[in-house]
Amino acid sequence: MNILEERILKDGIVKEGNVLKVDSFLNHQMDIDLFDEMGKEFKRRFADKPINKILTIEASGIGIACVVAQHFHVPVVFAKKAKSINLEGEMYVAEVESFTHKCKNNVIVAQKFLSPDDHVLIIDDFLANGCALQGLIQIVQSAGATVEGIGIAVEKGFQTGGRSIRNLGFQLESLAIVESMDAKTGKIVFSEQ
Ligand code: 5GP
Repeated sequence: MNILEERILKDGIVKEGNVLKVDSFLNHQMDIDLFDEMGKEFKRRFADKPINKILTIEASGIGIACVVAQHFHVPVVFAKKAKSINLEGEMYVAEVESFTHKCKNNVIVAQKFLSPDDHVLIIDDFLANGCALQGLIQIVQSAGATVEGIGIAVEKGFQTGGRSIRNLGFQLESLAIVESMDAKTGKIVFSEQ
């Protein structure tokens, strides 16, 4: 069991509706030493990739992406969520449905921050149905850039996102894959990796 899985067992809370709350260490209060270990592990898993940029999505991906970026020594770009698009300058736009908030957002990245020369590692905190990731992949592809890999902290393996993204041929690495979780008992089971 890795350090993130241990922490999820210690401090994660299973909520109704297939939501795992990890706000005491991952996406509200943030444990930076834990993020640093995660960054080391992503660097190991993507060691052979020519990554020159990290892309994430606001808000909860940003903290993780910044610490991960210290291991790759590359800049971080985050996609902004925009209800109405202020088309000041050229933007890449994708529509993303939020799993936790059940609403649709346009996510945008300024064209000047992604180009065909970029080799991108996408980072996010959670993977559920894969909608956020599909949006980020679409943005990278609109720029003519290359998705070199995708690094996720927590994948909920019982939802469809992981399978569909892997089926598209991307190297998707999740540090903890939850195979099952139960809001009544609080029990969380991880997939063997
Ligand atoms: P997806 O687009 O893959 O369905 O959902 C991914 C996004 O939804 C993540 O960026 C994350 O913010 C949020 N999310 C999905 N499932 C969970 C969950 O169980 N717990 C938390 N805290 N966030 C989640």
